[in-house]
Amino acid sequence: MSLNVAQIREQFPILHRQVHGKPLVYLDNAATTQKPQAVINALTDYYTQCNANVHRGAHYLSDEATRRYEAARKTVAEYINASRQEEVIWTSGTTEGINLVANGVAQRLKTGDEVLVTEMEHHANLVTWQQACKRSGATLKVVPINEDGSLNTEQFHALLSENTAFVSMPHISNALGTINPIKELTAAAKAKDALVMIDGAQGVAHGAIDVQDIGCDFYAFSGHKVFGPTGIGVLWGCYEVLKDWPIWLVGGEMIATVSYQDATWGELPNRLEAGTPNIAGAIGLAAAINWLRQYDAADILAHETALLARATQLAEQTDGLTIVGHAAKKIGVLSFILDGAHPADIGFLLDKQGIAIRTGDHCAQPLMKRLNVPGTARASFSIYNTLDEVEMLFEGIKKARLMLA
Ligand code: PMP
Repeated sequence: MSLNVAQIREQFPILHRQVHGKPLVYLDNAATTQKPQAVINALTDYYTQCNANVHRGAHYLSDEATRRYEAARKTVAEYINASRQEEVIWTSGTTEGINLVANGVAQRLKTGDEVLVTEMEHHANLVTWQQACKRSGATLKVVPINEDGSLNTEQFHALLSENTAFVSMPHISNALGTINPIKELTAAAKAKDALVMIDGAQGVAHGAIDVQDIGCDFYAFSGHKVFGPTGIGVLWGCYEVLKDWPIWLVGGEMIATVSYQDATWGELPNRLEAGTPNIAGAIGLAAAINWLRQYDAADILAHETALLARATQLAEQTDGLTIVGHAAKKIGVLSFILDGAHPADIGFLLDKQGIAIRTGDHCAQPLMKRLNVPGTARASFSIYNTLDEVEMLFEGIKKARLMLA
C-alpha cells in the first residue's frame, strides 16, 4: 500500500501556512521536521493536565507525570529495539548524546589509542572526537569518502587496527544523504575490540532503527528530526557498556547518596540524567514515534525514494547544476551547486517563492573543503512532501537562475 500523503499533510498545521504570500514548500527536513497535530496535542495535554516534576512528588500529578515520562522511555526503547529501557538516556539532542559519550571516552583513552571518524561528519560528530583526542593524547583518524560521496569502506578497513579504541560514524550524512553500511562496519570494528557509536541524527527520520541488529554500543538521535519537539534527544547505549560509563553532568537525580564532601552515583538511567529533565519533550517525542509507527516503514521508504529519484532526474536535466553526493545508497537529500550562483543566493530566491531549503556548509566545513565547494544548496525530503513540491522546487530554481543571469 502506498502512503496517503494528502491525509498525512492534513495533520501538519504548519504546512498550510503561507510565507512571502506563497504556499509553504518545506524542503528543509534534514535540519528539522515539522510536527503533526498529535505531537502538538501531546505537549498541550501535558501542560494543561499533568505538569509536575517527575520522580519526586508525593502527589497525584507528579505520579502521573512520572508514569507518562517513563512510558515515553518505553516507547523509544521499543522503537529502536533496545533490550532494556534503562539503555535509553534522555538528552537534549544528538549533540549532547555524542558529548556524553566522548566525555567518557576521553577519560579512558591513552596516548597511542586511535579514534576513527569519517570525512562526512557533521561538526557534532567531529569536534567532539577531535577535542577528546586532544585532551587524551589519542590520535584522530579520518576515513576518506569516494568521489560520489560514499564512504571508502576499503580505507575504513585499512584504518582499523589493534589501536582503534573507538569508532564514530554517521548512519546517514546530513549534507549528502549517503547511507553508510553501519552494520557491516560496526562488525569489523567490534572484531578489533573497538567501541562503536552511530550518529543517528539523520538515520532515525527514515524508518525504525534496530540497535541490536546494528550491533553498535551507542546510537544517538534528536527528537526534532523525527517529528518530535526540539530540546529532547536520546542516547541509547548497550547496558553492559553504559552501566559503568563515566558520569556526565552531576547534580540532583543522578546520585545515590550525598554528603558535604562526597557523593555516590545512582543506577541507570538516572546516573546519566542529572537535573529536572525535559518531561514534556520526552512525552512529545513518544507521541511523534507513536504517530510515525502507524505508517508502514517500507511505504515511507518507497515514498521518500520516489521523491529523491524525481528530484535527481530533474537535477540531471538542469543545465549547469551539479549534484553533490550521488552515492548509490542515499536517501532524503539533494545537495547541489549551480554554475554562476552562490548557494546562499539560490536559497534566498527560493525562499521568496515560498520554498524552504538550506544553504551553506551544513555544519560540515571539512567535508565542503574536501569536496571543493563553498557550500551547497540542500533540499531534503520527508514523509509529507509531494512530487508536486519537487516540481515546484525545480520551477523555482529556473526562476532563480533567470533572476541571477
Ligand atoms: N549529526 C548529524 C548528521 C546531523 O544532521 C545533526 C543535525 N543537523 C546533528 C548531528 C546534530 O543534531 P542536534 O543539533 O539536534 O544535536
